[in-house]
Amino acid sequence: MTEPTQDSLWQSTKELAEADLTAAAARAPERNRARSHLPDGQPESAAFLNGQPRPEPDLRFRDPALEPIWRKVQTGERLTRSDGLTLFASPDLNGLGAMADWRKTQLHGDQAYFVFNRQVNPTNLCVLDCKFCDYAHHPLDPKGYAMSIDQVLAKLSPELREVHIVGGLHHQWRFDYYVDVVRQIRRAFPTIQIKAYTAVEIDFFAKIAKLSIERVLETLVEAGLDSMPGGGAEVFSERVRAELFPKKIGAEAWLNVHRIAHRMGIPTNSTLLYGHIETHEERVDHMLLLRELEDEAPGFLAFIPLAFQTGYSDIVKRGPSAVEDLKTIAAARLLMDNMPHIKSYWVMLGEDTASVGLNFGASDIDGTIFEEKIAHAALAESPVGLARERILQMIREAGKIPVERDALYNIVDRYPIRASEPGTATGDIASTGQVTAPGQVVAGA
Ligand code: SF4
Repeated sequence: MTEPTQDSLWQSTKELAEADLTAAAARAPERNRARSHLPDGQPESAAFLNGQPRPEPDLRFRDPALEPIWRKVQTGERLTRSDGLTLFASPDLNGLGAMADWRKTQLHGDQAYFVFNRQVNPTNLCVLDCKFCDYAHHPLDPKGYAMSIDQVLAKLSPELREVHIVGGLHHQWRFDYYVDVVRQIRRAFPTIQIKAYTAVEIDFFAKIAKLSIERVLETLVEAGLDSMPGGGAEVFSERVRAELFPKKIGAEAWLNVHRIAHRMGIPTNSTLLYGHIETHEERVDHMLLLRELEDEAPGFLAFIPLAFQTGYSDIVKRGPSAVEDLKTIAAARLLMDNMPHIKSYWVMLGEDTASVGLNFGASDIDGTIFEEKIAHAALAESPVGLARERILQMIREAGKIPVERDALYNIVDRYPIRASEPGTATGDIASTGQVTAPGQVVAGA
């Protein structure tokens, strides 16, 4: 294989993108099973609490600037950019949380979702060198690794509902190898849903294989891909990109990959890396761009705010505070009225803040993960994986009802709000909370 040059890798793919969009638009998004979980009307639990009609909310705000926003939220009026900035500027954290939790309850009742999943990162070798990334290594670096397909398969077991695959942009692997990873997983584990490759990776595959984005996605779907993760978005700001990740695709290309995926019926996630050099304006603008895309080409499953881990980089002295974490979750829930779920991602937030986030508008806490590597390369303090029982405990501590889902948010099991009560959970894994995948690293069990 001829190694691609930086120029050939990063040249514009505008012509291909235009062709992709035309072809994708012609396809019926019948594969979009992901949205099947969304209620046609209000879920019963949004209207009822303990069998009684839920009382009308009577919120009092310490910050009067939140009152007009609350009126809009109650009547379903879409919030503006200026409202978003007011949310971030407000010192009334409880007021923000109460509004966002009310909105989340309208959408999902008291339920909080999680998934029995595993992350696999096939390689940490990467042709890019994003300034904030402690995970990636240069091809000549002895700390680099590249897994064989057998090594990837050895990480999995049939009980998993989802495998989440992301990694570096390897300097030698062909597109066929990435496809083969998906195909072999699908063959060996037909029931595990495969959520693989960020928009950054998809764009890279298109460049090294000289294919359109649509053809890349089509090939991966044929091999067994079910959905895409939302990483690589970082912050949709050219100012921040120039400073922290100049060689990585920017907003336009990232949004275009997800636009094409949605039009092909492939559900995806979205992210924001916050708490470094970005401003509140840039956070709000980022959320509004995602909202706009979801209006135009629906297909997002969730938005995951990723709290910056300072790691070994010298970018900032400390990452975002818990207050900033909770404000970001709440603002996301209120601003992106068309985003199905907001995640309180325990890996980046830590278990305690993630649990509190479920009262600030989040309806999902991610999953068991087993072996998180990317945030932990940047010194994240959370465990690298959690047992199902620990996740149930975090959700219950937040006063929410644990609901186990698959990668596409189809419900697998519902659990009682209190551990002592009988629930509908069935099966050995659900009832014991034991994680049995081979080669696991599980903490916090
Ligand atoms: S953030 Fe992703 S693209 Fe950037 S260096 Fe790290 S692995 Fe590579």
